Amino acid sequence: MDRQTEYVLRSMEERDIRFVRLWFTDVLGSLKSVAIAPAEVEGAISEGVGFDGSAVEGFARVFESDMVAHPDPSTFQVLPWRQMERGTARMFCDISLPDGSPSFADPRYVLKRALNRAAEAGFTFYIHPEVEFFLLRELNPPVPLDEGGYFDHTTLGDGTDFRRDAITMLEQMGISVEFSHHEAAPGQHEIDLRYADALTMADNIMTFRVVIREVAVNQGIHATFMPKPFSDFAGSGMHTHMSLFEGDTNAFYDGADEYRLSKTARHFIAGLLKHAPEITAVTNQWVNSYKRLSGGSEAPTYACWGRANRSALIRVPQFSPGKSSSARIEYRAPDSAVNPYLAYALMLNAGLAGIEGEYELQEETEDEVWRLSDRERRSLGIQSLPRNLDEALRIMENSELAAETLGEHVFEYFMRNKREEFEVYRAQVTPWELERHIRVL
Ligand code: GLU
Ligand code: MG
Ligand code: MG
Repeated sequence: MDRQTEYVLRSMEERDIRFVRLWFTDVLGSLKSVAIAPAEVEGAISEGVGFDGSAVEGFARVFESDMVAHPDPSTFQVLPWRQMERGTARMFCDISLPDGSPSFADPRYVLKRALNRAAEAGFTFYIHPEVEFFLLRELNPPVPLDEGGYFDHTTLGDGTDFRRDAITMLEQMGISVEFSHHEAAPGQHEIDLRYADALTMADNIMTFRVVIREVAVNQGIHATFMPKPFSDFAGSGMHTHMSLFEGDTNAFYDGADEYRLSKTARHFIAGLLKHAPEITAVTNQWVNSYKRLSGGSEAPTYACWGRANRSALIRVPQFSPGKSSSARIEYRAPDSAVNPYLAYALMLNAGLAGIEGEYELQEETEDEVWRLSDRERRSLGIQSLPRNLDEALRIMENSELAAETLGEHVFEYFMRNKREEFEVYRAQVTPWELERHIRVL
């Protein structure tokens, strides 16, 4: 038995764990869970646990629905919202086919493949996300929990308490929080997680969403990661800070450069800018995601970059000299309802394509980019992000980068599922149309 398995068995004994949940993620980013008894855990780690994949979104073709979940013992954590006696723990799983080969449908595997490619080039990929979400008193229609605004200190019971409880719980699960604050919209909050390697962070995001929901339920309120619940307020983004390290050295840093950005960083940014439209269907995967990207409220609309420009797709945060390890770029498209495994894989491969192809970085832009005409933007090489899910899918359909990164199965499933979502949406008659037209047309 290896040391990690020993650690899991010992922790279960010491902490009186009676249930272990095996967690994995479907193609659309929903968490799946199956509980096993403590006596099964050792066998589950060494041999895996069989399950029928046909009911999981995007997992199986009908003729090959048998799947095996292999818990990763390094992800063992006790769930702090369950009672402490006769407690519950969880482990994330890798999914394989019965013959042992990795499941082509497992988002965790999609990310691992991309990370291996980066590792072959000598890189480790680090991520630090800013996760925004809403706290609501009521769901239908949605009523924000509080009337606060950006960085406001709201009164007890109005979300401040919530963040304290949520952060305590995240820390108990080994997820470090860097800071948290009220966001611009009423009821909107942000929690920033301390950087970690991309696989750990994707797991952390899945855990984060569960924790936030559990704490909300506990307090008799609702939490939502829906990208844009209110027409009149900003949506919930998940700005993603990224860096590549070579061993202990930040490969994005060059002290001699005017922006303190290395060539590697410049090519990486150029890669993201070039491929951004192709990967937006995944970083912004819902019909609703595009309401957030519709312009304003600090959500990006054009593929440009800048240092001070808070509406650019990519921002290069400034950091104090001497802190070379902080050199990073912030990709601002993803929203909080993303599948983090698939999004990180695509963002990484877009950047790596820029490094491998030595793409040249366009000029930095300031906020004036919003006032330019489409033609002027084109002449500066600035692409628009897709305006809706349909456009995003049409662009992704021709993307070699997306097809290769996701693999044929995930790519096809994703396209099919999302086209269907758009078609259902297209047929909806909205309250907006009724209000505008029913009397006058
Ligand atoms: N809520 C904004 C977005 O949707 C981001 C606000 C901020 O700059 O933190 O991207
Ligand atoms: Mg924010
Ligand atoms: Mg930000």
